[in-house]
Order: sequence, then C-alpha cells, then structure tokens
Amino acid sequence: MIQYKSTRGSRNVKSGAQAIIKGIAEDKGLYVPETFPKLQVEIQDLIDCDYRQVAKAVLPQFLTDYTQEELAHCIDSAYDEKFEAPEVVPVVKADNAWFIELYHGKTAAFKDMALSILPYLLTTAMKKEREESKIVILTATSGDTGKAALEGFADVPNTEIVVFFPDSGVSQVQKQQMVTQEGANTHVFGITGNFDDAQTGVKHIFGNAAYAKTLADMGCKLSSANSINIGRLVPQVIYYVWSYVQLVKQGALKAGEPMNVVVPTGNFGNILAAYYAKQMGIPIHRFICASNENKVLTDFINTGCYDISERAFHVTNSPSMDILISSNLERLLYHLSGNDGDEVKALMDGLDQNKKYQVSEKIKEGLKEFYGGFADEKETKAAIGELYSKTQYLMDTHTAVAYKVYQDYRAETGDETPTVIASTASAYKFAEAVCDAVGLPQFRNGFDAISALNAFTGVTVPKGLRNLESKKVLHTGVVDKDALWDAVKGSLE
Ligand SMILES: *Cc1c(COP(=O)(O)O)cnc(C)c1O
Repeated sequence: MIQYKSTRGSRNVKSGAQAIIKGIAEDKGLYVPETFPKLQVEIQDLIDCDYRQVAKAVLPQFLTDYTQEELAHCIDSAYDEKFEAPEVVPVVKADNAWFIELYHGKTAAFKDMALSILPYLLTTAMKKEREESKIVILTATSGDTGKAALEGFADVPNTEIVVFFPDSGVSQVQKQQMVTQEGANTHVFGITGNFDDAQTGVKHIFGNAAYAKTLADMGCKLSSANSINIGRLVPQVIYYVWSYVQLVKQGALKAGEPMNVVVPTGNFGNILAAYYAKQMGIPIHRFICASNENKVLTDFINTGCYDISERAFHVTNSPSMDILISSNLERLLYHLSGNDGDEVKALMDGLDQNKKYQVSEKIKEGLKEFYGGFADEKETKAAIGELYSKTQYLMDTHTAVAYKVYQDYRAETGDETPTVIASTASAYKFAEAVCDAVGLPQFRNGFDAISALNAFTGVTVPKGLRNLESKKVLHTGVVDKDALWDAVKGSLE
C-alpha cells in the first residue's frame, strides 16, 4: 500500500485519493509517495499492449486505494478518441533520437496527458472519501496547463475551475484557447505579472486559513490542477514506461538496457515523472534537463546552488518554460535527501527569505544522474529549421530546446545511449516562431502563421486549433497580481 506524505516533514499521511483532493499539504509541502512501487510485469509482457493497457500496469501501483475497476474507468474515459493519434502517444524516430509525441490530446500540449485523467481521478476520489464540498480547482498557468485543465474540468459536476495566466506572457494561440473556453463552471483571468507571480499568488491562497474558512462557509474547498497535485504527476509516469516498451518493440534496445530521457523543463513535473519511472524499474541512464534562457535549473544541476536573487525573468518563444520557481524540484530534493522533510523545509524557507539555497553533498551526489543545459531563442529556432530541412520532422519551440540541449550533451559526453525526447507541444501552438524558423515570413498574427505553416509543411493542424480565431471570447478579466483572491471569491459568488 502506497501512502503520501508532505515534502516538508509533517507526519500526516494520506491515501492517494486524499492527496489528490487536497492538492497541497497543510505545511505547504507537496505530497510524495512514502516508498516507490515497482512495476509488477515484465517489459516483454507489455510489448503488445496499447497505451491504456500500459496505464493499467502503472497507475494501480501508485494509487493503491483505488479499485482496479475505478482506475480502469478513469483510464478508459481519459485515453480515448479525444486523442487524435490512434497510439495515443506515438514514439517517432528523427535524426538521432526518438520523439515521444505527447501533444495529440485536445489542447495540443503534453498537459493533456495528465489533465484528461485528473478530473476522473478527482471525482472518483470525492466519491470514495464522501466529499460533500464543491471542489474549486485553482490553477496558475504559463499557457498550456490552463487550457488543458479547463477542457478537463468544464461542466464536471461539483467542481469550479479558476485559471490565472500571465496576460502578456503566453502565445496568441494559447490565450485564445483559454478565453474562448465554454462551461458554466469555468473562470479565466489574465494577471498583470508573470507565471511565477501567478503560481506564488495561488500558493498563498492555498496557505491562507481565513480564505479556507470563507470558502468552507460557501460549501467549497480548494484543490489544484497544477503539477503540485500528485494526481498530475502519477499519470505522467505512464508514458515513460510506454516509450521504453516502444523502444524495445522497435528494436532500438533490448529489455533491461538503459535509455536516456531529455525533457524541456519548466516546473520540473515532466522530468520528475521520468525519475519516478526509473524508481519503478525502467532503466534510465541520464535525465537531461533542458531549459530556455530562464536557466535556473541548468545552473542548479551544475552547482547545487538554486539562486533566483539576481536573475532577470525572460519572456521567450518557449513561454511554457518561462519559470524561475520550479515547484516539483522540491519533490526531487526530498527523495535525494533520503526523505528528510526538515532539510527540505529549511531549503524552501531559504528560497522564500533569501531567494536562494545550497544543497547538501548528499543531494549533489544524487543530482549526478541529471544533466542540465539550455538553449536561447536563436538556437531554438535554428534547431527547428535544421531538423526540418534534414528530416522533414517538425518540432515546436519547447521540444526544440530539448533537441538542442541533447545535441550539446552528445557532443560533450559522447554518450550514444538510445534517447527519447519529450515532445511537449504541437508546432502550431507556437506557429509564429516556428514559421520564422523554417524560413517562412514572420507573422504577427498566430492564426495567419498556422495557415502558412500548414500550407508549407502539410502537417495536420490539431482539431482544437482549427477555427480558433472565430470562436467567441467569453472571458475578458485581467486582475492585478496581488488581487487573485478577490477574483476567486467573485467567481464563486
Ligand atoms: C508545461 C510545459 C513544459 C514544462 O513542463 P514541466 O512539467 O512544467 O517541467 C514544457 N513544454 C510545454 C509545451 C509545456 O506546456
């Protein structure tokens, strides 16, 4: 039986369902599994399985308080024809790597992998725990989580969803996707600030006892759709198991041989899921953590010092990674410290107070499995152009950051271990930058860029992005970054 504990030392343990409902622990820590479950089947036995079947081998190991039937219902409802690829997650070789295409869900970014199942996991949890309150999903987004969460929770009974995005920090397509969202329980606001402001503001609301009381009087309780919720993280483990099996199936490696994983990283959720897959038994040699100009993680992996004290925030062409406070790193620190909640709490307090912290030698030792690198905007565009002209394979800007860092890693280490790259979004979500990268004229308007890119490459435009321009704008609110609570309360009244 797997139980969940806070990264900051509180002794309270929760079941999977309870942790998913709560989202974040009372001591502001994140829920982590007390021990890691092992995969109970051989890789060979998964070779002929489809994505749903692999999911059924992974999820029950983490969510041991759910019945097999409950999880089967969640998995079958989530990973169905909503996904435009029959395999759900195609694993495609281009140049010297395999791309795990995680963007074939409704909103054309990898957030759909977890957010199409989270509403089922949460509503099942509410039934199991006889939760009577209305659950209010509070979400900060750097662009992709917001839309994926809105799609997942729109009109789900007994839930409301409130999303905050940086008003001038997301792509035009990302913004249009969110502000046109239908559903009586959806509330969307731009904020005058960046993603870190949105995430910090949301975490403050979670940590405020007076707000919790006000909400309770309204019959409401907060939860989170951000990757601080363990219900976001656990479904992401599935596709690392899946992609390992596909590499074995395609003959790239034999069962038991290692692979590398490259992840374009922001909040550290996706790469942490790969780390969890390794703890389950998937042989992963190196975790290659790719950042854009907001390269706090590159520096951290190289020095053991996390320092945002004098770091400027850059708005880049990979906006979903424009993040300086990378929440899920806290979970890795906890695991690498040997489950030392007091140590993690001291580090996180240091970050709050001094805007930096230095980890112990023990944690630094554990970080050696990770490689950190970054790519700037120019290198990102160059990578898209080069791979496209070489192979006709089209990447989005985030995936391109990962691809570029992987080429640097190979050149630096000579490591030729078969490698998967997490491909996190459709190129059409960031079409302005991608057009420029493949040599098309520069478009100011994201929708014109989509048409031009489609005409040039012939790559199918995802359903959710077609006719987006003509959809009715339903959400126009922009709030000050210090006034998020008023917006939440107003949404519920
Ligand atoms: C969210 C996101 C990322 C970063 O993922 P994390 O789990 O936050 O590290 C990368 N690329 C895209 C397209 C995203 O939407």
